[in-house]
Amino acid sequence: MRVVEAIADVREAVAAARRRGERIGCVPTMGTVHAGHLSLVTECQRQSGFVVVSIFVNPTQFAPHEDLGTYPRSLEEDLAKCRAAGVDLVFTPNVPTIYPDGFETFITVERISQMLEGEHRPTHFRGVATVVAKLFNIVQPDVACFGQKDYQQQALIRRMVRDLDIPVEIMVCPTVREEDGLALSSRNTYLNTEERQAALSLCESLQLADQHVRDGETDLAKIRAVMRGHLESHADVEPEYATIADADTLKELNEPRPPMVALVAAKVGKTRLIDNLVIGEE
Ligand code: AMP
Repeated sequence: MRVVEAIADVREAVAAARRRGERIGCVPTMGTVHAGHLSLVTECQRQSGFVVVSIFVNPTQFAPHEDLGTYPRSLEEDLAKCRAAGVDLVFTPNVPTIYPDGFETFITVERISQMLEGEHRPTHFRGVATVVAKLFNIVQPDVACFGQKDYQQQALIRRMVRDLDIPVEIMVCPTVREEDGLALSSRNTYLNTEERQAALSLCESLQLADQHVRDGETDLAKIRAVMRGHLESHADVEPEYATIADADTLKELNEPRPPMVALVAAKVGKTRLIDNLVIGEE
């Protein structure tokens, strides 16, 4: 496994793989690698012969009051996990490599960026779209893998790729969870024992939504209230949104119209977590 910091080194390694006839795969991450990230690597290896993992804590997707400074970083462990997983190349650029002096071009995916996460993190998706577009230009992958865990993010990337004719196939991989249902997230490392327990309320509220839809409840406002009520029943949990939306457009629904996705965001103590579940499916 090679580890490189420079764009030129990525291009050279990818060009060599292409000359060998390999398909190129890409898994963008912010590091603190966990089994969710590694599931994307496995899928990427199924889809391609040369897998590039990027590890970059992207400053432009954090607002000034957010956790950029304290975001967990564990490069040595991350590299060991990537090596054990059979990753071919890890790209670990520093900030000036991605955002050199004078940088002023950003990508905005208009509608999707403004709703849900965007209402609470108005500059977040502009940073995500921009860094992912740059990674696609640097690596020029045939395929790139993203997690369903960040549902709105994968919808935004798919929209951007279609809108900008970026020649990459986007694969979306299922959310990897702990045994008790908590979605794996690098930010789970912030949680103390009580918060870790309270954090289960996110996935539980999604399961409640699924159960109510399966039981025939058609008033989705009622189900939203149940989801929010479940989150609020935990002292440490402060919901930001709890909703049911069209799985493609992410527009909020008032009556069931599959495919649907239930989405939640909440602060657990000081830690902001998100989760989602496609609901009401056979
Ligand atoms: P991050 O490092 O949090 O930016 O995530 C990098 C990629 O891993 C994104 O495509 C995420 O959606 C994906 N990911 C994060 N957590 C999970 C998880 N629990 N299961 C599957 N994919 C995940």
